[in-house]
Amino acid sequence: MASKSTPPALPHAAEFRQRLLRWFRRNGRDLPWRRTRDPYQIAVSEFMLQQTQVGRVREYYHAFLDKYPTIHTLAQARPRAVRESWEGLGYYRRAANLHRLARAVIKQHDGIIPSDPDQLRALPGVGRYTAGAVASFAYERATPVVDTNIARVLRRAFHPRATHSPNLALLWDTAGRLIPRRGKSAWAFNQAIMELGALVCTARIAKCGVCPVRAVCKTGRATLRRPRDRAGPRQVKPRRSR
Ligand code: SF4
Repeated sequence: MASKSTPPALPHAAEFRQRLLRWFRRNGRDLPWRRTRDPYQIAVSEFMLQQTQVGRVREYYHAFLDKYPTIHTLAQARPRAVRESWEGLGYYRRAANLHRLARAVIKQHDGIIPSDPDQLRALPGVGRYTAGAVASFAYERATPVVDTNIARVLRRAFHPRATHSPNLALLWDTAGRLIPRRGKSAWAFNQAIMELGALVCTARIAKCGVCPVRAVCKTGRATLRRPRDRAGPRQVKPRRSR
């Protein structure tokens, strides 16, 4: 029986998770920030991935970490030097926020990025998504995350009628109901649903014909009933996507 703090399960939730995780084990990309649980390295990747595509971040990620290998080296750097190291990625406010975060972590948390999403959200440049991402990807906390890709998958799979008026609270609630309670599985689930949104259930087109969760996705099942529409629904370009 579900405890008071555990939200009720969604229909097909277990099968959705199983199918997604199986697909991710075979198809997930080998990205550098998936090979580490270092909170500082995860934070750097998450700041870079805000508004920048994966391919471009890959080009800059290691160079930035070579220059600032620890949160201490970043905190001690001059703002101008940090900005210069960010050149090519654009949206320089992210670099300034990351720098301020490093200084705040040194000052307030003895140089250790916290694992608690509420403490993370109090840091510069950290919103609900980034707090959840650092907690999940660095500390393997069973915390839901919802970015543009995940929101799109959740809408199409569970709330297709909300496509034109996305209710973010509803999507966060759905992510919270789906996420496995074991930290390692939660890490894999968050990576997997993000990957599905980046590679299969994309903004430009939903490739339902090759999607691993089609049988338990409301939109995918509707396209199954319309055999001529094999590709699935088209969508407009999102504001932020990996
Ligand atoms: S079945 Fe189609 S709409 Fe559903 S998650 Fe897969 S690609 Fe997206």
